[in-house]
Amino acid sequence: MSDHRLQTSPSDLPSGVPATVSVLTAADWVDPAALPSGPGCADCSAVQPSGWWFHLRRCATCGHVGCCDSSPQQHAREHYEQTGHPVIRSYEPGEDWFFDYRTGDYATCPEVCAPLARPEDQPAPGPLGRVPTDWKQQLH
Ligand SMILES: [Zn+2]
Ligand SMILES: [Zn+2]
Repeated sequence: MSDHRLQTSPSDLPSGVPATVSVLTAADWVDPAALPSGPGCADCSAVQPSGWWFHLRRCATCGHVGCCDSSPQQHAREHYEQTGHPVIRSYEPGEDWFFDYRTGDYATCPEVCAPLARPEDQPAPGPLGRVPTDWKQQLH
Protein backbone atom coordinates (compact mmCIF):
# COMPACT_ATOMS: atom_id res chain seq x y z
CA MET A 1 0.00 0.00 0.00
CA SER A 2 2.59 2.54 -1.05
CA ASP A 3 0.00 4.48 -3.01
CA HIS A 4 -2.50 6.08 -0.64
CA ARG A 5 -5.10 6.19 -3.39
CA LEU A 6 -5.40 2.44 -3.14
CA GLN A 7 -6.43 2.50 0.50
CA THR A 8 -10.03 3.32 -0.33
CA SER A 9 -11.50 1.85 -3.44
CA PRO A 10 -15.13 1.77 -4.57
CA SER A 11 -15.21 -1.93 -3.65
CA ASP A 12 -14.70 -0.98 0.00
CA LEU A 13 -17.99 0.90 0.07
CA PRO A 14 -21.35 -0.72 0.82
CA SER A 15 -22.88 -2.10 -2.31
CA GLY A 16 -25.12 0.30 -4.13
CA VAL A 17 -23.46 3.41 -2.76
CA PRO A 18 -21.71 5.45 -5.44
CA ALA A 19 -18.12 6.23 -4.52
CA THR A 20 -18.80 9.92 -4.98
CA VAL A 21 -21.89 10.17 -2.78
CA SER A 22 -20.08 11.55 0.26
CA VAL A 23 -18.56 14.47 -1.57
CA LEU A 24 -21.76 15.74 -3.17
CA THR A 25 -22.96 18.90 -1.51
CA ALA A 26 -26.63 19.78 -1.18
CA ALA A 27 -26.30 22.15 -4.13
CA ASP A 28 -24.94 19.34 -6.29
CA TRP A 29 -28.26 17.52 -5.92
CA VAL A 30 -30.34 20.40 -7.25
CA ASP A 31 -31.68 20.23 -10.78
CA PRO A 32 -33.16 23.71 -11.29
CA ALA A 33 -35.03 22.55 -14.40
CA ALA A 34 -36.92 19.67 -12.73
CA LEU A 35 -40.60 20.62 -12.71
CA PRO A 36 -42.76 19.89 -9.64
CA SER A 37 -44.77 16.68 -10.00
CA GLY A 38 -48.06 18.44 -9.26
CA PRO A 39 -50.02 20.78 -6.97
CA GLY A 40 -50.16 18.31 -4.06
CA CYS A 41 -48.35 15.34 -2.52
CA ALA A 42 -47.88 12.86 -5.36
CA ASP A 43 -48.19 9.88 -3.00
CA CYS A 44 -51.13 11.12 -0.90
CA SER A 45 -52.96 11.95 -4.11
CA ALA A 46 -52.64 8.30 -5.12
CA VAL A 47 -54.42 7.17 -1.92
CA GLN A 48 -58.20 7.26 -2.26
CA PRO A 49 -60.11 8.52 -0.46
CA SER A 50 -58.14 9.32 2.69
CA GLY A 51 -54.81 10.84 1.65
CA TRP A 52 -54.14 14.30 3.04
CA TRP A 53 -51.12 16.35 4.05
CA PHE A 54 -50.07 19.24 6.22
CA HIS A 55 -47.26 20.98 4.35
CA LEU A 56 -45.64 20.22 1.00
CA ARG A 57 -42.00 19.68 0.07
CA ARG A 58 -40.44 19.53 -3.39
CA CYS A 59 -37.55 17.22 -4.20
CA ALA A 60 -34.76 19.47 -5.46
CA THR A 61 -33.41 16.70 -7.66
CA CYS A 62 -36.43 15.38 -9.59
CA GLY A 63 -39.36 17.62 -8.61
CA HIS A 64 -41.33 14.98 -6.69
CA VAL A 65 -43.82 16.76 -4.43
CA GLY A 66 -44.29 15.02 -1.07
CA CYS A 67 -45.70 15.79 2.34
CA CYS A 68 -43.70 17.00 5.34
CA ASP A 69 -42.58 15.14 8.45
CA SER A 70 -45.58 16.50 10.37
CA SER A 71 -47.95 14.92 7.88
CA PRO A 72 -49.38 11.46 8.63
CA GLN A 73 -47.54 9.70 5.81
CA GLN A 74 -44.26 11.71 5.58
CA HIS A 75 -43.94 11.06 1.85
CA ALA A 76 -41.14 13.58 1.24
CA ARG A 77 -38.88 11.66 3.62
CA GLU A 78 -40.04 8.36 2.12
CA HIS A 79 -39.05 9.68 -1.31
CA TYR A 80 -35.56 10.42 0.04
CA GLU A 81 -35.27 6.95 1.55
CA GLN A 82 -36.43 5.28 -1.66
CA THR A 83 -34.47 7.35 -4.19
CA GLY A 84 -31.53 8.77 -2.25
CA HIS A 85 -32.47 12.32 -3.26
CA PRO A 86 -31.49 14.10 -0.03
CA VAL A 87 -32.44 17.72 -0.66
CA ILE A 88 -35.92 19.23 -0.55
CA ARG A 89 -37.25 22.72 -0.98
CA SER A 90 -40.37 24.01 0.71
CA TYR A 91 -43.38 24.00 -1.60
CA GLU A 92 -45.39 26.36 0.60
CA PRO A 93 -46.16 29.95 -0.48
CA GLY A 94 -43.70 32.45 0.98
CA GLU A 95 -41.08 29.85 1.93
CA ASP A 96 -37.80 29.52 0.04
CA TRP A 97 -35.61 27.26 2.17
CA PHE A 98 -33.82 24.07 1.22
CA PHE A 99 -33.23 21.18 3.64
CA ASP A 100 -30.74 18.31 3.52
CA TYR A 101 -31.99 15.06 5.10
CA ARG A 102 -28.39 13.83 5.47
CA THR A 103 -27.45 16.65 7.83
CA GLY A 104 -30.91 17.34 9.19
CA ASP A 105 -30.30 20.99 8.55
CA TYR A 106 -31.06 23.76 6.09
CA ALA A 107 -28.86 24.06 3.03
CA THR A 108 -27.82 26.77 0.60
CA CYS A 109 -28.80 25.85 -2.94
CA PRO A 110 -29.42 27.47 -6.32
CA GLU A 111 -33.06 28.41 -6.85
CA VAL A 112 -35.26 26.05 -8.83
CA CYS A 113 -37.73 26.78 -11.60
CA ALA A 114 -41.32 27.92 -11.08
CA PRO A 115 -43.82 27.12 -9.73
CA LEU A 116 -42.09 27.56 -6.38
CA ALA A 117 -45.13 26.71 -4.25
CA ARG A 118 -48.45 24.92 -4.32
CA PRO A 119 -51.38 26.90 -5.77
CA GLU A 120 -52.61 29.58 -3.36
CA ASP A 121 -56.13 28.14 -3.47
CA GLN A 122 -54.83 24.77 -2.26
CA PRO A 123 -55.27 24.87 1.55
CA ALA A 124 -52.78 23.66 4.18
CA PRO A 125 -53.59 21.13 5.38
CA GLY A 126 -54.93 19.82 2.09
CA PRO A 127 -56.34 18.84 -0.21
CA LEU A 128 -59.68 20.56 0.16
CA GLY A 129 -62.40 18.14 1.25
CA ARG A 130 -60.07 15.33 2.35
CA VAL A 131 -58.69 16.69 5.62
CA PRO A 132 -60.25 14.96 8.66
CA THR A 133 -61.74 17.18 11.37
CA ASP A 134 -59.26 15.85 13.94
CA TRP A 135 -56.23 16.45 11.71
CA LYS A 136 -54.29 18.24 14.44
CA GLN A 137 -54.27 15.05 16.50
CA GLN A 138 -52.87 13.10 13.56
CA LEU A 139 -49.79 15.24 13.02
CA HIS A 140 -46.38 13.88 13.94
ZN1 LIG B 1 -48.08 12.46 1.25
ZN1 LIG C 1 -36.50 13.13 -6.11
